[in-house]
Amino acid sequence: MIKITADDIFDGRKFHGPDRALVLDEHATVSALVPRSWVGEDFVKVDGILCPGFINTHCHLELSHMKGSVPEGTGLPAFLTAVMENRTPPAADVLHSAIDAAAEAMRQEGTVAVGDIANTAATVSVKRRTAHQTEWHTFVECMGVADAFAPQRLEHSMAVLAQFRQAQLPAALVPHAPYSVSPTLFRLINGLKSNGTISIHNQESAAENELFRHKTGPFLQFYRHFNMDASSIGGTASNSLPAFIPYFDQGQTMLLVHNTFTNRQDVEAALAREGETYWCLCPNANLYIEGMLPDVDMLLEMPGVTITLGTDSLASNHQLSIWREIETLRGKFPHIPLETMLQWATLNGAMALGIDDRFGSFEKGKTPGVVQITGNTSRILDPKSLFA
Ligand SMILES: [Zn+2]
Repeated sequence: MIKITADDIFDGRKFHGPDRALVLDEHATVSALVPRSWVGEDFVKVDGILCPGFINTHCHLELSHMKGSVPEGTGLPAFLTAVMENRTPPAADVLHSAIDAAAEAMRQEGTVAVGDIANTAATVSVKRRTAHQTEWHTFVECMGVADAFAPQRLEHSMAVLAQFRQAQLPAALVPHAPYSVSPTLFRLINGLKSNGTISIHNQESAAENELFRHKTGPFLQFYRHFNMDASSIGGTASNSLPAFIPYFDQGQTMLLVHNTFTNRQDVEAALAREGETYWCLCPNANLYIEGMLPDVDMLLEMPGVTITLGTDSLASNHQLSIWREIETLRGKFPHIPLETMLQWATLNGAMALGIDDRFGSFEKGKTPGVVQITGNTSRILDPKSLFA
């Protein structure tokens, strides 16, 4: 048995103070969280906070080569234009070494499970190689604004999905965003069987709501720039969330990502749907792209809102660290207890990805990983190395 104590232990839901010991078996499976006096003298004491492994519910590992290549503060339509025009990497080895380095850095800072967006099969190999230490859940993203081409767009994404599934990697097919998915494509995705949690970028910009309310604004320019026929999208006289959420009427679990321009009425519309809904915040990416943060206080006040955290990609973030996301949120919302935010980063994320039977909390029988937080750093602990 491995017995660890710290200045404080957070178990996925709450802090337990300094007088507790975390007991793990030799496979790092949680055995118990007990009073320190029960474990005798045979324990290791570490500095800082112990916490279950972080769950990053929104990442784009395949964009890791784009670190620093997109200017900050442009707003979403201009950001997307820059990403789409920079997307082709210089060479496969450059892409793969950037992906490998980002995956390893994420692991080191304490992330044990990732909801990772994929448009291509570029991340299949790293995910297979590291599946023993990181739980990858891939969301293969489907997009297509021209309604007539929806079946072809779905077929294209299904072929990418098949590559992940053939590699025995859990994967689902999901819509990219309200402004990039036509009504027919939404219906086709809703009709897919045994597809798992559905992630979608939601209300990342004010321009998205403007498109849906009035069919005006920067997205029209974006479509024109790429010569896209997006005539079937928007003009619903409501914000985007109430317009697209009714497509998902099969009781699916939804993971709404960003929610930067989401208001109370939008939240109510989402919660009226049957099925669980999770709200993923990516504050550092929001500041990078839009210079805005979601109304976190409003989300916290709404009964039934469950928040998770994500990092988005290195195209819109300086690192893929969940602890850095928490630090940013603590700076802007100092009245929200750390305990609350740590639950977003652990148990809630595990629930959103449907892996809370193994991850997210220090409950007996789980193998959630152990993170040590000291000051402004977090790192994954290898419990065995503490006794080496
Ligand atoms: Zn994203």
